[in-house]
Amino acid sequence: MKEFECRIVEKGTDEEGAFVVLDGDPFYPDGKGGQLGDRGKVNGEEVLSVKEKGVSVRVYLSHLPETDVVKCMLDVKRRHTISALHTAQHILSAVLEDKFSVVTVSFHMSEENCTIDVKPVSVSNETLERAENFANEVVFANLPVKKYFVTAEEAEKLPLRKKADIEGRIRIVEIPGVDTSMCGGTHVDYTGEIGLIKVLKTEKIKKEFLRIYFAAERRALDAFREKFHTLNAVSKLLSSGEKEIPDKVEKMLIEIKKLKKENKKLKAVLIKNFVSVLLAENGNVVKKEMDLEKGDFMSLLAMLSSEKTEKVFLLYSFKNLLLGVAKGKESGISLKEKLSGFVDRFEGRGVLRDNFAFAEFKDLELLKEALSYIKDELSG
Ligand SMILES: [Zn+2]
Repeated sequence: MKEFECRIVEKGTDEEGAFVVLDGDPFYPDGKGGQLGDRGKVNGEEVLSVKEKGVSVRVYLSHLPETDVVKCMLDVKRRHTISALHTAQHILSAVLEDKFSVVTVSFHMSEENCTIDVKPVSVSNETLERAENFANEVVFANLPVKKYFVTAEEAEKLPLRKKADIEGRIRIVEIPGVDTSMCGGTHVDYTGEIGLIKVLKTEKIKKEFLRIYFAAERRALDAFREKFHTLNAVSKLLSSGEKEIPDKVEKMLIEIKKLKKENKKLKAVLIKNFVSVLLAENGNVVKKEMDLEKGDFMSLLAMLSSEKTEKVFLLYSFKNLLLGVAKGKESGISLKEKLSGFVDRFEGRGVLRDNFAFAEFKDLELLKEALSYIKDELSG
C-alpha cells in the first residue's frame, strides 16, 4: 500500500452512495479504457468503487470523512497487476497486428479475466503460439514503456496503431519498435515487469470475433499454479505421469464404452429371467420386491405387460422408493379404473395407464401406504 495525504475537493451522496472527489484524482476509475479501477483506503474506509462522472472522479466509501484533508492508501500491488495486464495487451495486440494481420477490436479486463476480441475470427493455434512467443520476447527484452503528451499535429506524424480525433493534449504510450498508441490508462515502466504473457484459451464470438483470454504478471503465475494443481490431482488419481494422462484417459474411455455395452446386454438377460420367474409365481396377483434402478424397473414392467397372462404384477423397491403395476395381456381388469388417483394420493410422481402404472415416492411410509392400498384394490 502506498500512503499519502490528499485534499477533498468535493463530497456528497448520489444514487450509488457516498463519495469524495480527491485533489489530483489519485485513484484510477473503474472501466476506463477497458481497465479495472484502483482500490485502497481513504481515512481507513475501504474504497468501494471509483467512477468517472463528467470531469470528476468519484471515490465511493461507506462513510464520508469529516476532515477536508484525508490519509489515502493506494493498493499498489493491484495497480501493478492491472498496469502489467494493460501493457501486455498493448504488446499482444501490436504483435498480432504487425506480424499476423490480426486486428484487435476491443479489450476487456475483469477481476477474473483479461480478453481481447480480434478479427478475423479464424486464427490458428500455431499463429497464436508464435504471437505469444514474439510478445514474450518483448517482455524479456525489458524495453522502456514511454509515456508523453503531444499535440494533435505532432500525433499525425506518429506511427499510431489506432487514430482518433482528440483535441488538445494527447497522451502517447510508446514501447520503442513495438507499439505507439494513444492511451490514458496505467502501464508499467519497463516491459520486464510484466513477467510473462500467457494465452489461456480462445472462444469464437458470433462467428465474427475471436476472443483471446490471456494472463500476465501475478495472474499468469496464478493460472499456471491452478493448472498445475489440477494436473497433479489427475495424475495422482490415475497413478500416471503427466505426459501419459491423455493416452491413459483415452484407453479408459474406450474401456468404459465397452463395459457399458456389456452391461446393457447382461441387464437385458437378467430382466428376461425376472420375467420368467415372476410368470412362474402362484396366484393371479404377484407381489414382489425388486431392487432395481428406475430404468430397469420400468423395463421389467413394460415386458411383463406384454406377456400373454392373466396375472397382475405388483412390484416395488423399498431401497429406490419405486412402485409399479403391470397386467398381462389376458387380464380383464383396467388399472386406470382400479387405481385412479393413486399417484397423487400418496404424493408420488409417475404414470397410470390401463396396463401399466408406475410411481416414485418421497419416503418409505408413503410407499408402504400406497402398496397396501393397491394390494387391496387389486385383490378386491
Ligand atoms: Zn494503454
